[in-house]
Amino acid sequence: VRQGLDSELDRLDGAPYGRYKGLVGAWELPGGWTLEVVRGQADPFAPPARAALHVPGERAGFPRELWDSPVRRRALAGYLMWRAAQDAASEPACQVDSGGQEVLDRSSCVIGAVDGSVTLRLGVALPGHHRRIDGRSARRLLCRGLPQLAERALCHTALDPAEVADFVATVEDSVALRSALPGLGLVAFVADGALLPRRTGADDRPARGAGLVPFRAPDELRVTVRLPHAGPVTGMGVPEGVTLIVGGGFHGKSTLLRALETGMWDHVPGDGRERVVSRSDTVKIRAEDGRRVERVDVHAFVDHLPGGTGTTDFSTPNASGSTSQAASLCEAVESGARVLLIDEDTAATNLMIRDARMQALVAKEREPLTPLVDSVRSLHRDHGVSTVLVMGGSGDYLEVADRVVMMDAYRPYDVTERAREVAAVPTGRLAEAESFPGVVPRRPDPSCLDATVRGRTRIRARGTDHLVFGEHDVDLRAVEQLADAPHVTGVGLAMELLVRHGHLDGRRSLAEALDLLDQELTGPPDSVAALLSVHDDDFAVPRRYEVAAALNRLRALKVFR
Ligand code: ADP
Ligand code: MG
Repeated sequence: VRQGLDSELDRLDGAPYGRYKGLVGAWELPGGWTLEVVRGQADPFAPPARAALHVPGERAGFPRELWDSPVRRRALAGYLMWRAAQDAASEPACQVDSGGQEVLDRSSCVIGAVDGSVTLRLGVALPGHHRRIDGRSARRLLCRGLPQLAERALCHTALDPAEVADFVATVEDSVALRSALPGLGLVAFVADGALLPRRTGADDRPARGAGLVPFRAPDELRVTVRLPHAGPVTGMGVPEGVTLIVGGGFHGKSTLLRALETGMWDHVPGDGRERVVSRSDTVKIRAEDGRRVERVDVHAFVDHLPGGTGTTDFSTPNASGSTSQAASLCEAVESGARVLLIDEDTAATNLMIRDARMQALVAKEREPLTPLVDSVRSLHRDHGVSTVLVMGGSGDYLEVADRVVMMDAYRPYDVTERAREVAAVPTGRLAEAESFPGVVPRRPDPSCLDATVRGRTRIRARGTDHLVFGEHDVDLRAVEQLADAPHVTGVGLAMELLVRHGHLDGRRSLAEALDLLDQELTGPPDSVAALLSVHDDDFAVPRRYEVAAALNRLRALKVFR
């Protein structure tokens, strides 16, 4: 650790901008902080330098019960990155990734497991006059601004202790609620009083104003769960099996499903979805025409294509709505998903339903598609994969649903009994499949996963929708569970890790490689460290399902079977 950053910056004043690179390394700042310059900045217009600000545990002063488990450390870090971003908002040269409504493991803030120390990672735009170093401004920024930031945002004495404790308790309750689901035979839980609608389609904060209807569970589905901090909490349990959400248009069906879609993440206090949870192996499935598919066995849903193309080993550079959805579903199960969420709004109708009249008009021999309605029960019975489905437009699913929830003016009602009566009247529809046959494991070829461009690793998010991975651009628009751009970066880093650490070696199946990735991301020292070894950037740690989804959308993907 070097000393004298202030005099070093005085010395650099007026020097060519590139000499900033000489700052790389660790510096002791007055007041007990350490500033690590991880990456310099080539010129004033290049991406900002990367720095890590370390606050020793005794200086940060957080009581042990706020950081003595991985969940508590993630929560405390989530609070601190938010505070730090607020504090840094007045300093445009500092860029702190604060995260959004979800509390994810992020590189921007990490709490030390041994001593409760705080590390804040941020981008710092180093000051310059044209192409020369502005040493005085740099000194003000690095030697005064950053210590003040640490003092005001990263030390317990400067913060509202009740607010910090509430943040950690909220996240810990959410985790406890989620881990209670399997024991209760549930795939999701929505607490009474939860606020599900968001401000706008592009703004994930809670909706405001009059007319908001808080969630209230129907009596038939109400369960009580005792949480470590909040005590007993009541709400709607969504059982394992096949659950159908029906109801009129604009009555809140998709809003409920979207809440379940983010229920594998914990939410910040005040979000409205703090006690809306779904199992951690929940994956949203949707249609995505135009996507590529590489050697997936989709014959359960698609067979006898025109021209005689087989579909047990199906590839296409340009899938249709239905084949893309079939492939995504099989891939999700392959990667380990055990709860699938599907919304009619984004599903391919012809993969979902084929009613009696269409069966009468178009013979089975002429229809390659077998709708999901005929295998959704087997998915659960034979493979342990539950489905929650929004379907307001067709009654064919009433026959196969274990539970039917009707949304009416944003209120859920259990209409399972009535649905059984309705379904008892035959429509003449014939089942077109007996069971879901399972998925065929694939073994990705690591040589197709090359992130290097001219000798350097290039992994970058372009918004939430695209991942730049080497020469490749991976379209992630249909992977709806990615929270933000740093989350996309995390997916890219995890893909690189699968290759670098030899988890994908051409012999291991994708699922086995993802198991090894999971071990690495949950092992010591912390989940951020593993991905940080690839590249220092703002990222959030993804789940295996998003990593698999990105891999499957890589146009260069090659697999062995
Ligand atoms: P559906 O899928 O049934 O057609 P949506 O879920 O898309 O309906 O909801 C329609 C509208 O109602 C959206 O603008 C949504 O924000 C709003 N909304 C959903 N739930 C609530 C609620 N609990 N309180 C107030 N508005 C809501
Ligand atoms: Mg809808």
